[in-house]
Amino acid sequence: MYFIEKALEYIFLPSCGICGKLGEGYLCKKCGKDLEKYLINTKEKVLIDLMENDFNKDISYSIINKFHIFRYEEVIRKLIIQYKFNDKSYLYKMFCEFILKDKKAFDFIKSYDIIIPVPIHKKRMKKRGYNQSELIVKELAKRVKIESGIKVLVKTINNKQQSTLSGKLRKENTKNVYKLINQEKINNKKILLFDDIYTTGATANECILELKKAEPKEIGLITLAKD
Ligand SMILES: [Zn+2]
Repeated sequence: MYFIEKALEYIFLPSCGICGKLGEGYLCKKCGKDLEKYLINTKEKVLIDLMENDFNKDISYSIINKFHIFRYEEVIRKLIIQYKFNDKSYLYKMFCEFILKDKKAFDFIKSYDIIIPVPIHKKRMKKRGYNQSELIVKELAKRVKIESGIKVLVKTINNKQQSTLSGKLRKENTKNVYKLINQEKINNKKILLFDDIYTTGATANECILELKKAEPKEIGLITLAKD
């Protein structure tokens, strides 16, 4: 088995997800350097959002640590759109490579017991073939050595794509569309929610409201990008 794996690795050398260069893993040095320009690397409190953002008024959860990796612009925007909508699921390896090399991001993830992706509806899953957040979560959990909570939350309503809606409608659109289905898995744990893009916070807030029902020890949020 080991031999087969090694042979396959040899035949299918990993290539850079952005430029295709062989021999430097899923993200080459040059492209990795380019992406650094878009790093945010700031931890913010939801409390700040409470003051800035009407969308979070329903949440009295002021102890959430947030971590956004990139600003959602230019190259990052292009890559995420390709990743989600153009069938380029393989880009998750490139994103994970970058996240794991960032010590702050690594340590942030490591400080939690379990990482949970924002789910997509089964109809969308069928159409797209993958949940972009789930692919990243599985890889991060494996590499950082924390648990992954794939079937903790489900999306029960196939609502409109958030990106097609403006601010106010986004909150309405996400109301009660997520459901906690595996409470035992997160009881009394430090849990980290993963989403790809953070815009108004409406999606994350809805998920967090559900997760809170299990009374976890702590809830954190990490997103690939902040719009
Ligand atoms: Zn490259």
